[in-house]
Amino acid sequence: MNKTMDWEQNVRRAEPYVPGEQPGGRSIIKLNTNECPYPPAPGVRRRAESLDFDRLRLYPDTEAGPLAAALCEYYGVRPEQLFIGVGSDDVLAMAFLTFFNSGKPILFPDITYSFYHVWAQLYRIPYVRKPLDRELRIVKEDYLGENGGIIIPNPNAPTGIFEEVGVMEEIIAANRGSVVILDEAYVDFGGESCQKLIDQYDNLLVVQTFSKSRAMAGMRIGFAMGSPKLIRCLKDVKFSFNSYTMNMPSIELGVESVRDEGYFRATVDKVIATRERMKGELGRLGFSFPDSKANFLFASHESVPARRIFEELKGEGIYVRYWDQPRISNRLRITVGTDREMDMLIEKLEAILHRISGEGAEMEKKND
Ligand code: PMP
Repeated sequence: MNKTMDWEQNVRRAEPYVPGEQPGGRSIIKLNTNECPYPPAPGVRRRAESLDFDRLRLYPDTEAGPLAAALCEYYGVRPEQLFIGVGSDDVLAMAFLTFFNSGKPILFPDITYSFYHVWAQLYRIPYVRKPLDRELRIVKEDYLGENGGIIIPNPNAPTGIFEEVGVMEEIIAANRGSVVILDEAYVDFGGESCQKLIDQYDNLLVVQTFSKSRAMAGMRIGFAMGSPKLIRCLKDVKFSFNSYTMNMPSIELGVESVRDEGYFRATVDKVIATRERMKGELGRLGFSFPDSKANFLFASHESVPARRIFEELKGEGIYVRYWDQPRISNRLRITVGTDREMDMLIEKLEAILHRISGEGAEMEKKND
């Protein structure tokens, strides 16, 4: 018998999530992974410069103590209601493994964060994707039937659409027998968190991240808030997997970010102001998009295909996100950058659209 064949047949196969490109070089404009265009709070830099290098010898605190304390104080939750992980991807992956274990299909929108179906496949969790409606909104009724768990981002990604807390509460209340995970990666940009519901619903897990509004994607800090029962189960699985996931610098630097509320608010407000300005500018160029409450817009142009614009922009060193997938293949997800980056984007888009419409007119003349 062929021994190699044996193991090859039994490998756990996965089709990995494809993240946005991380191109190098200073001259590019990177609007493809929803990072914050501004640096982390000044206190984060100061703490980074004075980190106790010798402490790297030691294992970090398994409970990320100082960061957990800062987050508990900030959100008004008890330590037994908080879970911290290496980015919200880590938190979500652990939550899938812990809570989606009934054998019944879990539910999530058809257009959403594309890591959900990857984890479902990896862990062999059956799943059903519920189609968003024509306006790309979640259809609440789709989430009221029997299921093995629910995961919804609010605001949704890549649409940017925020559904009111009342809508989410109906879904949570109708599913007391399964765990509802709300992925609030973008909630700080104008949404409202469902965190206030965790005392009331022991089946609710709210997941957030430092990667977007706190400008710390490179540090990898995510966290979840939920009932003590949920958090205990999550920690039991996590500590059965790896107990030292949060590194010491992330713990220390994360604390400084949480402490500087003024900087956090100012940064988020700047992103929101730029996003609102962009809605007008892109509309003027013939783009339409859902009303985003996140740090990105999900735009399609009235006449030029998204793929063409994506490629032209890339040629100019401007990276946005494009998916060649059903229902969204004529849309671009554009992260809100600095005002200067957005001005350059608009300038390039104007030139590209002008050139392409010129090509169209040329073709028509030739055909006459
Ligand atoms: N959820 C959503 C909806 C996202 O868009 C992202 C960013 N890719 C994440 C979770 C994960 O972010 P992170 O792991 O950096 O916290």
